[in-house]
This record gives sequence, C-alpha cells and structure tokens, in this order.
Amino acid sequence: STFSQLGLSPLLCSAAEKAGFKRPTAVQQAAVPALLEGRDVLLPTQTGSGKTAAFVLPALQLLADTAQEQAGSYRPPRVLILVPTRDLAMQTATLCRQLGRQLPIRTRVLCGGMDRALQCRSLQEGVDIVVGTHGRLLDLAHEGALDLSEISYLVLDEADRLLDEEFTEAMTALARYFPDHPQTVFCSATLSDDVMGFARKVTRDPVAIEG
Ligand code: AMP
Repeated sequence: STFSQLGLSPLLCSAAEKAGFKRPTAVQQAAVPALLEGRDVLLPTQTGSGKTAAFVLPALQLLADTAQEQAGSYRPPRVLILVPTRDLAMQTATLCRQLGRQLPIRTRVLCGGMDRALQCRSLQEGVDIVVGTHGRLLDLAHEGALDLSEISYLVLDEADRLLDEEFTEAMTALARYFPDHPQTVFCSATLSDDVMGFARKVTRDPVAIEG
C-alpha cells in the first residue's frame, strides 16, 4: 500500500517520500488509518518498525487542518509526546519538523537539563507539538508556563520504560492539566501484565496493532 491509501494528505505523503520513506511499514499501515479515525492505539513494537512516523504523521494531519490561520500567533499545544529520555525527545522532534516542514507547525522539546527560561519564551510564542520528559513538563505545567488544556493527542512512547512509581505519579499529576481522554497512542516494546494494566488506565477501547 501507499501513504496516500492510508488517508494521509498529499502534502504529508510527499513529506514522507522526501524523508526517504517509499512505502509505509507494516506498523504504519495498521496504525495510521486508525489514528486518523480518532481511535486510541496500542503499538507493541520496537524501534526500527517505523512507529515514530506512525504516530507523527496522523498528529501532523490533525494539526494541519487548523494550523494555517494561527501560524504566527500564540496557541497552546494540542499534541503531547511523552518520552523517557532527552535523546529520544530530540530525535522525535526532528522527525516532526522534517515531516511537517511544509506546514506552519511548531515543535518544541521540553526536557530537564535544558534552558528553562528559553523554553518558557518559546511557549509564549505558540507551540503545536510538545515533545518532552515528565519532570520538566510537570514543572512548567505547575508554574502555568505550559498550558495543557488543549491537548487532544497524547503519545506515551516507550511506555514500558516510563513505568516506575515516579512516572506514574507524574502522569497522574499531568493528567489533571489535560482534558479528559485525549486521543492516546501507547507505544511499548513489551506488553507485560504491568504494562497492559497501565495501558488500560490511559487508553479507551484501543486498536491493538500487531508488533
Ligand atoms: P522508528 O521505529 O520510529 O525508530 O524508526 C526507525 C527508522 O525507520 C527511522 O530511521 C525512520 O526514519 C525509518 N522509517 C520510518 N518509516 C519508514 C518507511 N516507511 N520507510 C523507510 N524507513 C522508514
């Protein structure tokens, strides 16, 4: 199949081609249509499957419809991608920017160990996609610098690595700042009982993709 058969706009199909993606991977074929329909998705899959583009492309399409009119102005983020490490945040943000290059979509990384004042300023300028780690996100949300009230698309990437007590507490605290039940993508290399228990708490009637 092709990217356009998955329901992606011509602009995003061409962005995928420019990124060197000739055909969607198996994971992308299964996940993209479900995500474009607004379903929650479980992605039990490893790095190398193309899972990042599988959740980034639908996020970009969701944003693209309304981004134009707000291109230059303040707006709170609508997509939140939670990752376990700063390196992964950077890589994921790079893919968001690469695939969204033709769109007026702003992506920001919000992690600890990075200039906080700069992050606050960039949030004031308006952001569409936030990629970050829970500590800094929670810190900025508590302070009121990060408005999560418009989050409608949430990704928990490498959720099996996020599954400690500290993260679970941070997640509960963060969830108070977002609307009830944003569309949620849950990625995990493994689906142990613990991971599935966590997935059940944060997703609703998810489509489970074969890994
Ligand atoms: P990931 O599983 O998200 O870590 O992606 C693994 C690698 O596959 C990354 O370098 C992506 O750029 C690349 N990739 C993602 N989708 C495709 C595709 N449809 N065709 C070729 N490469 C891809």
